[in-house]
Amino acid sequence: MCKKKCLKTLARYEADTRTDRHDRQTSCGPFCTPEDCVNVATKNLTDTKSFLGDILSWADTQTSVKKLLLHLKFKQATDHVLLDKSINKTFLEFQHNITEECGAVDKQHSWAVIEKQEEIIMYGPFYPKYNKGKHSEDFIIKQTQELLESEAASEGGKVYVFTKNSPCLARNTDACMLNLVQKAKEWWTVYRVKTHIGYVKCWGFKGNKENVFRDIHFSQVDCIDQTEDYESYVKAAEETDLNPACENVFSAVKRLLRSADLAFINTVQDQGCKSFKRMHSIFDGKPEEEKDIQELNRMIKAAQVLLPDKKESLEEHLRKGPTFAFEYAFSSQMSDAKQGQIRLTFQQCWTEMVQDKYAKFIREKLTEDFNQCTVQLFIKDVVSFTKEYLQIGRIQFPEEASQVPQ
Ligand SMILES: [Zn+2]
Repeated sequence: MCKKKCLKTLARYEADTRTDRHDRQTSCGPFCTPEDCVNVATKNLTDTKSFLGDILSWADTQTSVKKLLLHLKFKQATDHVLLDKSINKTFLEFQHNITEECGAVDKQHSWAVIEKQEEIIMYGPFYPKYNKGKHSEDFIIKQTQELLESEAASEGGKVYVFTKNSPCLARNTDACMLNLVQKAKEWWTVYRVKTHIGYVKCWGFKGNKENVFRDIHFSQVDCIDQTEDYESYVKAAEETDLNPACENVFSAVKRLLRSADLAFINTVQDQGCKSFKRMHSIFDGKPEEEKDIQELNRMIKAAQVLLPDKKESLEEHLRKGPTFAFEYAFSSQMSDAKQGQIRLTFQQCWTEMVQDKYAKFIREKLTEDFNQCTVQLFIKDVVSFTKEYLQIGRIQFPEEASQVPQ
């Protein structure tokens, strides 16, 4: 019975191969009849469909995020996926030309180049138009498509797509990364051109709008730090009315907290900071204490010196608040009781502010790792299907290479 089934499968496989061979024989020749062209088009469509199936799992963001968190949990070191040296060099040369012509741009933008034996066509830079729901890659795809269609013989050509942030993997419509991968396949099948995608920063699914770690506030970080394993964390979290994070998020935070070089710079200590606003609110509705508010403002301004110019640990930074408050000399006449109250409030606000900033720093660091991991894994996933015609990787700049520690 099994034999019969195997034979059947074999027969089907052979038939498929025959059709495939037939298609190939009739499609490329100069005597291609319209009928053949239809055949080829249908076959391309089927190919694209099965290929879509392969990358479709990436269109399901929720499942992909879960998969990535698991990956992040076991991840050792993150290495960027770099482009081949020669491709990287070409990107740098093009970028040099674009920058000379249009100036250096820091925000998200894309440009592209079609390189053929006899000519080079550069187009861009394009910027996203978020109010119209357009990402910069949308313009690149449209323009490239039009150019390839209008050019007679593109065979053997190359398409270079630069995008500052790696193409997004989640969006309310088809994600740019998936669009580009599909287009690269189409451009290869129809025009025999290879596509190269180079980026500077890993955007992951949705860059800094990624919200996988949004619930990691200081109390969570602290609880994860204080507990040994997931089980004891869940217990501790429940005891303190914290909503426990899932195990993979726990592991990601734990791993980050254990990493040796974790130190943060408390970058912006603006007066608009939530905690310091709270400090102002002590005097709210008491206009007669205008002088106290001025005194308080002076104190906050003086606290700017607490800004570190080097990386500091959380503990080092936390300690600075009370010391500063204790040593601070008030300039105006103020009762001891009032001084004491302001010193105490300053300490509380300082602690709260530093903790908030620290948690934000942890969230940003996790998101950065997560986004990098996402792009890495995506490229690894698609590369086996696409290596014939597509290369995706981070552009390495010469100044970076010299900064690599020896
Ligand atoms: Zn996009």
